[in-house]
Amino acid sequence: MKTIDTYNFKNKRAIIRVDFNVPLNSQYEITDDTRIRAAMPTVQKILADGGSVILMSHLGRPKEGPEEKFSLVHLIPTLEEKLNLHVQFAPDCIGDQARQMAENLSSGEVLLLENLRFYKEEAKGNKEFAEKLAGLADVYVNDAFGTAHRAHASTTIIANFFPEEKLFGYVIQNELNSIDSVIGQSRKPFTAILGGAKVSSKITIIENLLSKVDNLIIGGGMTYTFVKAMGGSIGNSLVETDYIDTAKKVMEKAKEAGVKLLLPIDSVNGDAFDNDAKRETSSIDAVPENWLGMDIGDKTIELFCNTILNSSTILWNGPMGVFEMSNFQKGTFEIAQAITESTQNGAFSLVGGGDSVAAVNKFNMADKVSYVSTGGGALLEYIEGKELPGIKAIREK
Ligand code: AMP
Repeated sequence: MKTIDTYNFKNKRAIIRVDFNVPLNSQYEITDDTRIRAAMPTVQKILADGGSVILMSHLGRPKEGPEEKFSLVHLIPTLEEKLNLHVQFAPDCIGDQARQMAENLSSGEVLLLENLRFYKEEAKGNKEFAEKLAGLADVYVNDAFGTAHRAHASTTIIANFFPEEKLFGYVIQNELNSIDSVIGQSRKPFTAILGGAKVSSKITIIENLLSKVDNLIIGGGMTYTFVKAMGGSIGNSLVETDYIDTAKKVMEKAKEAGVKLLLPIDSVNGDAFDNDAKRETSSIDAVPENWLGMDIGDKTIELFCNTILNSSTILWNGPMGVFEMSNFQKGTFEIAQAITESTQNGAFSLVGGGDSVAAVNKFNMADKVSYVSTGGGALLEYIEGKELPGIKAIREK
């Protein structure tokens, strides 16, 4: 398969699907440019080869056609600053003007297309729409891992029009390499840490991981469904009664698979779901009536950290407690800290999926783990063992 490093883009017009779905404030200024920064190495490689670049992305969730607040034009100043060159803008991602602008691109030039989702055809994976986008360029580069699990026109269908000239950009390449070093050929002991609110949203991952990991750590809100399954008292803690049987089965399957399942042994409880709630620690199976478990306790922190420090591969998804509230963030903080320490000692650590990424960012630890996935839903589906349409479209002949 062609890779971006071995491909020579000289005199080629490359259309890159990037993930520029960045947060904007009310003045349309970018409040977090991580995704734009992430895409720069791919753009720079193509320009350095002597190619030209057409950038396409979605932004937000526009409902009915163009909307000022979702226009990609707001990204131009940031892009120009990062690339240190003039970036052209096509106010419609398809049509005569976009085609003219694309045709007139000289090597070293960059054109940004307006929001793809101003057309319903994008999310529908419409073939004609994909063909129009494809007509703008000689080569297709997919560098948007965050949308690789969607069979949209620009992420998947478009690849059909580039049977030979299609490749992954650095973002996707790095994502796949780091996920594969966790899921594919992980060094043992392999520990997965799963937290967050619900068993229901993590169950497929848990099941898929049971055949791969040595240790499975479970924390966060989903703990209490497991505790309930074992007959403990959980007060008003978060619980999914429909998943009590599922939790029992996970515990059985872990035993059969020889996986060490670590559940919290103590719980930091609040008398309300509030940062200023009264706080008390109890044994995990004795949360008092009317109280709710909101973080893991010190004994659990010690137990979990010992395992993390003795692991060679670590996958972390989901916080250990209500980390958004400073009085209930300790468990998540200490786990993140142990992961960075273990990484320093040589472990490979992958942090991915919404809230654990928010947590490492909050604690300024993003550069102290091996890899922070930009993937969200795409990462989780990949770990679940699903084939992502955007990945398949590039890989298949
Ligand atoms: P998820 O998106 O499933 O990873 O869930 C993340 C959310 O779970 C965060 O907003 C946390 O505040 C929340 N969470 C973690 N632990 C608890 C808990 N013990 N009770 C309620 N919510 C929790």
